[in-house]
Amino acid sequence: MGRRRQVYEGKAKVLFEGPEPGTLVQHFKDDATVRHRRGAGIITGKGVINNRISEHLMLRLGEIGIPTHFLRRLNMREQLIREVEIIPVEVVMRNVVAGSLAERLGLAEGTPLPRSVVEFYYKSNELNDPMVTEEHITAFGWATPQEIDEIIALSLRINDFLAGLFYGIGIRLVDFRLEFGRLWENDLLRIILADEISPDNCRLWDIDTNEKLDKDRYRRDLGAVEEAYQEVARRLGILPESGPSDMKGPEVMQ
Ligand code: UDP
Repeated sequence: MGRRRQVYEGKAKVLFEGPEPGTLVQHFKDDATVRHRRGAGIITGKGVINNRISEHLMLRLGEIGIPTHFLRRLNMREQLIREVEIIPVEVVMRNVVAGSLAERLGLAEGTPLPRSVVEFYYKSNELNDPMVTEEHITAFGWATPQEIDEIIALSLRINDFLAGLFYGIGIRLVDFRLEFGRLWENDLLRIILADEISPDNCRLWDIDTNEKLDKDRYRRDLGAVEEAYQEVARRLGILPESGPSDMKGPEVMQ
């Protein structure tokens, strides 16, 4: 890791300069943080699994024409991505009431929503990612009205596709968080999907038992966190070739 220039370190990932201009290496850590809680814990092997899961989902989305930053997986914990200018807005798509929506509106977790709901949050650690509306986003210039329209259209397509994909493996896609970036291609400015899609930023419940297969196991101290992430990978058919034994923590980094 020492040879490459680090360009950013976030809570769960580190970005390094990539081998060619316009690329970055996205490195997945095992660190896990919870909003409104201090410090970081470790979910052993999480980075390895999320690297795989995000690769798989980004590739499938690419196949249906969703532009993504994913280029290729490099090793167990790293993938090559396109460098984009991140739009400082987090998009949350919801199909079922959970988490902050349940709290804010006093609704029972697990209530299906009459239609998918999209929410926006301003990306700011200092402010704890406050919820904002399209009005704030366009008034403060975080994205143009056209960009927001594109982001909503892409998010709805991603939601429909992923909800179906997970349904096919017995998982309910309750909600998830997306980030988008700007990419210049010749003279054309495009909006593309960035960041990651994994059990760190999705709520995934078993269809039959409602068992949580996502980061809520960690947030709510339910135990068996690593096993839940592995179960998602197993159902997606993407456990690493040599099985769970090569998912054991940072020492496996290549
Ligand atoms: N989420 C995320 N990062 C955040 C906030 C939320 O990835 O900083 C994801 C979270 O995993 C869930 C969805 O967005 O799948 C909705 O989260 P919610 O607003 O309910 O917040 P939470 O209850 O997680 O604080």
